[in-house]
Amino acid sequence: MNLYSLIRDVKDFPTEGILFKDITPLLQDREGLRASIDQIAEKLEGVEFDLVVGPESRGFIFGVPTAYKLGKGFVPVRKPGKLPYEHISETYALEYGTSTIEMHIDAIKPGQKVVIVDDLLATGGTTRAMVNLIEKVGGEVAKIVFVIELDSLNGRSVLEGYEVESLLHY
Ligand code: AMP
Repeated sequence: MNLYSLIRDVKDFPTEGILFKDITPLLQDREGLRASIDQIAEKLEGVEFDLVVGPESRGFIFGVPTAYKLGKGFVPVRKPGKLPYEHISETYALEYGTSTIEMHIDAIKPGQKVVIVDDLLATGGTTRAMVNLIEKVGGEVAKIVFVIELDSLNGRSVLEGYEVESLLHY
C-alpha cells in the first residue's frame, strides 16, 4: 500500500517556515495504520534485537505496535519530568528549538540489542540523542526505522555508522 497520500502537509506549523508532515490522516485510516506497522516490521525482518525504543509521543504510536507485532518489549524515551524511576537525560537541538529526553537507567541491559522506531527523521537530533542514551547504558542499536524522512535535512549524517531506513522520503 502506498502511504504517501495519507500524509498531510501543514504549512508554518508549529512555527513559520516549517512544513509539518501530519501523520493523523494515516493513523485514522485503518488500512494505512495497519500497512505502516507492517511495513516497519518488514524493514526489521532478519534483524536480531530484544527491544523497540521509541520517543514520546509519535514514536510511541509506531513503536508499540511494532514491538507487539514482532514479539518484543518496548522502551519509552520521554520528555523531562515524566519518568518515575531513576533516569538519564540528553539535551539536543531540534529543527525548531531545543529539547531534552530521558530514559530509565534500567530500561536496557548492557549488551541488549535495540531498534529505534519513530515517525520522522528531520535533523536527526532526537534520534542521535536516543542513540547516546542507549549506548550510555550499554545497549547496541541494531537498526533505526522511520515512517518519514526529510531527505533535504540530511539527518542521516548525524547517524553515520548506523543502519537507517524510512518508509517515505520527501
Ligand atoms: P529531528 O530531531 O530534527 O530529527 O526531529 C525530531 C522530531 O520532530 C520528529 O520525530 C518529528 O516528530 C518532529 N518533526 C520535526 N520536523 C518535522 C516536520 N517537518 N513535520 C513533522 N514533524 C516534525
